Amino acid sequence: MYNNIKEDLFFFNELINELINDELINPVATAITPNELHSKFDLELKSSPAIAEDFKKELKKLVLNTSKSSSKLFFNQLFGGRHSKAILGDLLAVMLNNSMATYKIAGPQVGVEKEIIKQVNTLIGYPKGCGGTFPTGGSMSNFMSLIMARDKKDKEIRNKGMQGKLIAYTSENAHYSIAKNASFTGIGKENVRYIKSNEKGQMDITCFKKQVEVDLANGLSPFYVNATAGTTVLCAFDKLSELVPICQRHNIWLHLDGAFGGTVVFSEKYKHLVRGAELTDSFCFNAHKTLGAPLSTSVLVVKDKEDLYSSFNNDANYLYQTDDANYNLGQTSFECGRRNNALKFWTLWKAIGKDGIAKIIDHEFSLADSARNYVKENSDYTLYSFEDSLSVCFNYKDFEAKDLCTKLYEKNKLMVGFGSFHNNTFVRLVTINGENLVTDILNFFKVLEEFAEQNSDLIKRI
Ligand SMILES: *Cc1c(COP(=O)(O)O)cnc(C)c1O
Repeated sequence: MYNNIKEDLFFFNELINELINDELINPVATAITPNELHSKFDLELKSSPAIAEDFKKELKKLVLNTSKSSSKLFFNQLFGGRHSKAILGDLLAVMLNNSMATYKIAGPQVGVEKEIIKQVNTLIGYPKGCGGTFPTGGSMSNFMSLIMARDKKDKEIRNKGMQGKLIAYTSENAHYSIAKNASFTGIGKENVRYIKSNEKGQMDITCFKKQVEVDLANGLSPFYVNATAGTTVLCAFDKLSELVPICQRHNIWLHLDGAFGGTVVFSEKYKHLVRGAELTDSFCFNAHKTLGAPLSTSVLVVKDKEDLYSSFNNDANYLYQTDDANYNLGQTSFECGRRNNALKFWTLWKAIGKDGIAKIIDHEFSLADSARNYVKENSDYTLYSFEDSLSVCFNYKDFEAKDLCTKLYEKNKLMVGFGSFHNNTFVRLVTINGENLVTDILNFFKVLEEFAEQNSDLIKRI
């Protein structure tokens, strides 16, 4: 076995063709328990090389038995489907293998990344002087925004560590990365206030305002709000227009976590869901969630590029040897060697235009409308979701959501997850695969109903 790129890419093509054909016939891979892993696959790594034929056979087995996140029966996570134009860009990024840290290594790829950042900033409506970067995902985008907010509040924290008591705010429905990030940044998990939400899953503004006042009265320092555009379970959009004035009054950094729903900025029809975004301090979205770009494609933009620079730059003369900071992207990013995650989004955007991206978003919202209408019109279902959301939460008859979802997976019928909100647990169908059609959504319900009826003795009841 030798190192031969042409031969291996030939095999790659063969493998991928087989995978794509297999996804149509077997849209759900056979569930394998962790205990079975070593008996089903030859995973063991040895001192000696594998025999070429065994190597190929084993690799094929792995590929065909990994869960099929691009099939029409995958609704389990906030990503799904694959857009061929984004795949093309990402495969090229692997081949080019440039790091995005400096202009000297990345060359025109710096232009690719900067163009996306510039266009997204225009969509948001940030003023001159704005900036951005491509973090490794939504969690990292949230992390970077928290660091910038912390450093803005007190420049010395970077050198001396935390001194006073900084308080961050987010919704009780916010992503779990906020808690982790509070720990990483030295803010402390206990200094995050989880504001309760209204019945639609949006942060309750009165509660938020009260909490800020209580904290101020106790001599604490409110400095950061993490609002959500598309909460992970209900896909609720916090009301920015009400948060902005409070944040401005108290000099609080307002970050909008749009990892899930932030791509509405591309759509004339749905961008009203993030009305006021131009008044936030930072914003992120994941193109790998709703746009069919491969993991991970995350964009973080900031109103004032100086904040990004002052928190993430560090002198490194072995690295930054040519060109200015504007083109040495490593001076505004977390990583040193950084994968090119921009190219796949650029190939997608270039190929289909902003209008094409908007169409994907609008289509996904209309799939959610179809799903919600189906649930509403069928008395066997209870609906927990609202309009203007990509997440359709429901229960079917009195089947317990958790058990139903687990058994659907174990029996290889379909992959869908469950979620909870205000004491209810339900099936969560997310219409984030733009390749799906209404017929695919109706088929989802058909598969679920047939399975529930055929296994009604086995599935637990609420
Ligand atoms: C998915 C998600 C994140 C995390 O994004 P990753 O790219 O998975 O790290 C953060 N916030 C929200 C609201 C999300 O839905």
